[in-house]
Amino acid sequence: MYNRFPKATVVQKYGGTSVGSAERIMHVAQRVVRLNREHNLRSAIVVSAMSGETNRLVALMNQINPDASRRNYDMAVAAGEQISTALVAAAIERCGAKARGLLAYQLGIFTDSFHSKARIANIATDKIEACWKNGEIPVIAGFQGVTADMEITTLGRGGSDTSAVAIAIALKADFCEINTDVDGFFTADPRMVTTAKLCPVLDYDVAFEMASLGSKVLHPRSVEIAAKYKMPLTIRNTFQPDNHERTVLMSLSDQDRLEAPVVSGVTVDQQIAKITIERLKPGVHTISEIFALIAQSEINVDIIVHNRTPGEDEMQLGFSVGKGEKDRALSILQQWNTKQKQVATIRAEEGLSKVSCVGIGMASHPGVASRCFKVLAQNNIDIHMISTSEIKISCLVDEADTKNAAQLLHAAFLEA
Ligand code: ADP
Ligand code: ASP
Ligand code: MG
Repeated sequence: MYNRFPKATVVQKYGGTSVGSAERIMHVAQRVVRLNREHNLRSAIVVSAMSGETNRLVALMNQINPDASRRNYDMAVAAGEQISTALVAAAIERCGAKARGLLAYQLGIFTDSFHSKARIANIATDKIEACWKNGEIPVIAGFQGVTADMEITTLGRGGSDTSAVAIAIALKADFCEINTDVDGFFTADPRMVTTAKLCPVLDYDVAFEMASLGSKVLHPRSVEIAAKYKMPLTIRNTFQPDNHERTVLMSLSDQDRLEAPVVSGVTVDQQIAKITIERLKPGVHTISEIFALIAQSEINVDIIVHNRTPGEDEMQLGFSVGKGEKDRALSILQQWNTKQKQVATIRAEEGLSKVSCVGIGMASHPGVASRCFKVLAQNNIDIHMISTSEIKISCLVDEADTKNAAQLLHAAFLEA
């Protein structure tokens, strides 16, 4: 990439593992300075918190008050990036270059006020331009944002990928580079499916679907905005040489899309709960009322199953949510049940995970769903819920079956 774009404007993002220790931070700083000198770059560096740090802050907050306001939650969890930003900037200085650490409020990464899931509205680039003019390398805290009222927000777990892409778009960068702890985007999580293969080139749509369905190598929103603004995005291993294999995300041509494999990848999303409501009295407004209450509490609902047998005056509704949102969803439903004088039975099950097959070729190839169910059935893996779209099939399975299901589906569709 660097040879293809002389004097490139580039955003390099370094994830948690890449800045996970003093040694690793020095390694990152050396790479940043070397590339800047070799290629005369205009580079902006975006960093995550050191690995484990955000989890530590979230756990601390949950221990003190699991129902803390999202404003206070954001103020605590955004702190990890402040430390890594300052350390990386200091490491660059130690390598003999000038660097300036910038937090979101200092740079001007403005977001809406949806604390803990904020969306970027705009980014001021004047401080970055000023750094370049002074010969400084700007080092920017990922994951954080600030509202127009100067309240600290965060973009959701894994959100520094989105910070990096959004900054690249604001700078009209030549490309954005995501430096992480694996060689690129694989056909499945290489830590779970050891036979997973690196995808040298991947279409934005497939990457977005895989990221949304649990491939945490990229934050889904980072792919969404990269696609929208056609920002070339590369994913590479921080600790491999620059010419090592990697993934480049781009819009594939219609011809390439036609020839795309039926299934391009298998993903896993763990820690899912399923809520079942039985003996629900039917009514035109019932379903809309239930989901309005759930949405008001900012609970993300995923798979929904609804069943009403003609002639019966009871119906069933089931839906899946993140395990962390199960208790809140249950209490909302129970309150609604009492208030509406319903006598529905409400149950929750946790310990589930979602295993999905993704591929743009699926839209024009029938039989993928049936093959997927057959593979799971032949191996005695129970399916609790199913959801499909043109380019994916998702099955909720027991958490204990996750790895096996992912490996079996990968073998069936990607190793045949
Ligand atoms: P970073 O801290 O650099 O942002 P993350 O831990 O957020 O890194 O994301 C990288 C991890 O994503 C990898 O270690 C890998 O286990 C996981 N992963 C899940 N699905 C995939 C996939 N399809 N391709 C590559 N990595 C994946
Ligand atoms: N540090 C944040 C997290 O752990 C953001 C990120 O790593 O992208 O979620
Ligand atoms: Mg990440």
